[in-house]
Amino acid sequence: MDNDNDVCGTDGDGDGDCVGEDDIYDGSDDAGGYLEEEETMAEGLQAASAAVAKKLYAVLTEDAILDRQQKAAADVAEVLSIPSSFAVVLLRHFKWRTSRVKEEWFSDERRVRDAVGMPADSVPTRSAACSSHFYCVSCWHGYIHAAVGDGPRCLSLRCPDPACSAAVVQDLVDAVTLAEDKDRYARFALRSFVEDGGGGIKWCPAPGCAHAVELVGDHAGDDSRDVFCDCRHGFCWRCSEEAHRPVSCDTVRAWLAKNSSEEETANWILTKTKSCPKCWRAIEKNQGCNHMRCSAPCGHQFCWICLDPWNNHHRCSRYNYDQRPVVDDEPAAAAGGQGKAARKEKMRRRQAKASLDRYLYHYERWAANRTSIRKTLEDMDHLQRSGLKKMAATLEIPVTELKFLTKAYELIADGRRVMRWVYAYGYYLDPVRDKAKRGLFDHLQDDANSWLESLHSCAELERRKFSLNGEGVGADAMNETYRAYKKKLEDLTRATEHYFGNLVKAFETDMPEFNSVKK
Ligand SMILES: [Zn+2]
Ligand SMILES: [Zn+2]
Ligand SMILES: [Zn+2]
Ligand SMILES: [Zn+2]
Ligand SMILES: [Zn+2]
Ligand SMILES: [Zn+2]
Repeated sequence: MDNDNDVCGTDGDGDGDCVGEDDIYDGSDDAGGYLEEEETMAEGLQAASAAVAKKLYAVLTEDAILDRQQKAAADVAEVLSIPSSFAVVLLRHFKWRTSRVKEEWFSDERRVRDAVGMPADSVPTRSAACSSHFYCVSCWHGYIHAAVGDGPRCLSLRCPDPACSAAVVQDLVDAVTLAEDKDRYARFALRSFVEDGGGGIKWCPAPGCAHAVELVGDHAGDDSRDVFCDCRHGFCWRCSEEAHRPVSCDTVRAWLAKNSSEEETANWILTKTKSCPKCWRAIEKNQGCNHMRCSAPCGHQFCWICLDPWNNHHRCSRYNYDQRPVVDDEPAAAAGGQGKAARKEKMRRRQAKASLDRYLYHYERWAANRTSIRKTLEDMDHLQRSGLKKMAATLEIPVTELKFLTKAYELIADGRRVMRWVYAYGYYLDPVRDKAKRGLFDHLQDDANSWLESLHSCAELERRKFSLNGEGVGADAMNETYRAYKKKLEDLTRATEHYFGNLVKAFETDMPEFNSVKK
């Protein structure tokens, strides 16, 4: 990489000088609401429930899924007058569509029986799949153990006699197998209800989460939406990637592929040191806010992202394409003895650097917004664990009255998520072809950032005056202040929500992406 004139590239001054956390957070109020209390960083991206979107889906626990499965089986069993474990076999065969099962059964019962292994002349017991072939318990143990080890196919298991096609149903499995295999079989059965059920229910993709999400009502052709699990993980219903409104699944796929191909560079940018723009000493980024302060004697304060002085820093400076012109501006005469090939090579390297700079610019901001989301959710957790109770006690009001605060935090997290993905969108805007779009893009980014910053400062910093136990302030004055504060934050929340509603719409419609995504 060519490091000429590049502040970011001048990393490290060799003496290992590193600014500690205490130096970086100067403790002043504008440091971005850094909490003094130590909190463990939640693993993985956690997302707040969608405050903006009206809920058009339901989150299901495993028990709720099991309950639905049993209700469907009971319904079919009753209508067809068959045992409910057979109803499960039928339902699974017809992808859990109750009406289809009934239809097929009543139009040709024999064909259906043959297809799923329910011979009419053979009645199963709790120790055999059919009335002709009997096995001892240890044979069954081995047979079912092997089948379960083979994966979900165990759900279509037939009688051990190779010439017999009688189905082995769950009741039989429960009666003749070991507890461990019984549980594994039950898990496959549960998963089948979600995974083979035609896509109306999907598992939450968060690691370790056992919940599923179900679209409510009729949303055919309307499957591009973010859903939020009770574990707070948000994901795209269509592509299962993390929630990414207002950006299309194609853009997300292209962006994530780009990130993994640039993994080394991307990791480097998140861990690297930058040089203080004033004294050029190396300064290291700690997780958290972007307000940096160089160590003494320099003490220069600047923004980590854009390196502008912190004083009067309202928003990060925009990406300036014009600052880094990629043109062959060297006059032929000045090239001296340089051959044509050498000039071409130089040109190629400058182009490569410009394209890398552009990627890093967007990547750094995309990643910084993820950090902001985590931080916001941690602050919100902290608030819900203790902050709200303390504040309610100070004001002598019920804690439920303070819901408006949680709502503000949820909106900040939602807004940051939108901003995060909008940077991926921005990367795919062509610097030349999409110049006009880029102008609008930068404008919307700036506005959105200031909305979120005002909301954050009101929710976090202005709230602190209510944690002073009201000392020296009369109760009436305190309540007066509280009412004014509540109104301000509620108004700001409403306005920000409205702004983001429009922003999302703008990116989803007015700035169509089809011509800017590189396939
Ligand atoms: Zn045996
Ligand atoms: Zn048999
Ligand atoms: Zn979940
Ligand atoms: Zn998607
Ligand atoms: Zn400095
Ligand atoms: Zn900045």
